[in-house]
Amino acid sequence: MAFSHQVFKKIEAIVGRANCSEAREERLCYGYDNTPEAFYPDAVVFPKNARDVSSVLQLANQYQFPVTPRGAGSGMTGGALPVWGGVVLAMARLNRIIRIDVDNLIAVAEPGVITGDLHRAVLKEGLFYPPDPASSDFCTIGGNAAECAGGPKAVKYGVTRDYVMGLEVVLPTGEIIQTGVETAKGVVGYDLTRLMVGSEGTLGVITRLTLRLLPKPEVVKTATAVFDQMETAAETVSEIIRQGIVPRAIEYMDNASIRCAESHIHAGLPLDAEAMLIIEVDGSAGETAHSMQKIETVCRAAGVREFKSAANADETAGLWKARKAVSPALFAYGPDKINEDIVVPRSKIPDIVKKIKELSLRTGLTMVSFGHAGDGNIHFNIMLDKQNPEALQKAHAAVNELFDYTLSLSGTISGEHGIGTSKSPYMAKEISPESLALMRRIKSAFDPAGILNPGKMLV
Ligand SMILES: Cc1cc2nc3c(=O)[nH]c(=O)nc-3n(C[C@H](O)[C@H](O)[C@H](O)COP(=O)(O)OP(=O)(O)OC[C@H]3O[C@@H](n4cnc5c(N)ncnc54)[C@H](O)[C@@H]3O)c2cc1C
Repeated sequence: MAFSHQVFKKIEAIVGRANCSEAREERLCYGYDNTPEAFYPDAVVFPKNARDVSSVLQLANQYQFPVTPRGAGSGMTGGALPVWGGVVLAMARLNRIIRIDVDNLIAVAEPGVITGDLHRAVLKEGLFYPPDPASSDFCTIGGNAAECAGGPKAVKYGVTRDYVMGLEVVLPTGEIIQTGVETAKGVVGYDLTRLMVGSEGTLGVITRLTLRLLPKPEVVKTATAVFDQMETAAETVSEIIRQGIVPRAIEYMDNASIRCAESHIHAGLPLDAEAMLIIEVDGSAGETAHSMQKIETVCRAAGVREFKSAANADETAGLWKARKAVSPALFAYGPDKINEDIVVPRSKIPDIVKKIKELSLRTGLTMVSFGHAGDGNIHFNIMLDKQNPEALQKAHAAVNELFDYTLSLSGTISGEHGIGTSKSPYMAKEISPESLALMRRIKSAFDPAGILNPGKMLV
């Protein structure tokens, strides 16, 4: 038996009428993400606690319908799409910050908390939660953990995985488990927390997170470096790292990204530059001044056109606003986007930037690159009209070629956006048949009936 109105009534009896819906307009609102695809689920459920989640999953096993967990739907690879219908579990109402423990540097939160709200709440206590995807104003902590989100500060502070200490998870078969610890160390048993983080809602539904916090850095300094050649900007990133300096962010924007951001928010960006870096350091006043001085020296030696420190917090905020505007502003270049998220070792950034330039010239396609260059992570976008079969075919060939080249540089095809639906056809390029088979066995050990987020990652 699949999903039916009778099953919906059973769910309604458990979660209450106000916490579920079969209405067409509600289903429409929970069937899309940041990919161009959209699907109708049969129903949307807003769980109030882990028990609600458990009951829905038990019914899903009994009646064989798919369940798709969803945070804010900002994912880039289709992870939250209900591709086979069934129930979307919208975690948005589980949105309490339960505890900020200043003595032990931890926060305990529900998955629907908006990442930016957590940033602000811990900052008030003099603390710092580093993972900061550019979507932090609207994405959720649960979605971040499921995707192992990164962001600009990953270059110094790492990604979400490095801050998730423990989880409450509802398994696809309905059991509620606790993983991890609240202590600084802990090695009892397999590391289920790490397995769950980045599993894209295919192994369990996260209903609570224990997160590691840091003391707020004393001083933050931000600068921009403007280049006439994108290769020089890329080489400068590698050189900064080679000099042993670890900024907390080095963001790269090519000319097309600069133009997009400028057209969106008018920040006075250099429209004629081939590339620009936003570089940020943090630490004590002495450390930050010293690091910024060294970075400026590296940039000047490379032939930077302009190196400018942000004069105040407003200027810094303006720069980050510009950087965050790039992704949504890209559609100025075409109605459709093929969006990739490759990572290469930091010393190989110049190679990948040259490759992208060469691909763009050879294919005639509009390619826009920006991203977290400090950790070798370039968001590579092909802007096109998908109704044009020739352009689409060329774009797919270009993606294939870029992935092969990335892997030949010991890189990876997805740094932080996950696999979802859009990258699953490419998994076997990077992962061996033996590892893929093991991943399939793990999935079926967790989810023997295959009801949790089917059609994703391992299809
Ligand atoms: C403008 C823009 C900028 C972005 N910048 C970045 C960036 O800098 N870095 C980055 O890493 N990403 C970035 N992203 C991608 C996206 O925001 C992140 O992947 C984010 O972590 C997704 O969170 P979400 O709440 O929207 O999750 P959703 O999109 O709703 O879901 C993502 C995945 O998580 C699963 N999931 C959600 N909640 C749960 C839960 N409670 N339990 C189990 N599984 C769950 C879903 O099933 C799905 O597979 C950006 C997106 C946009 C639109």
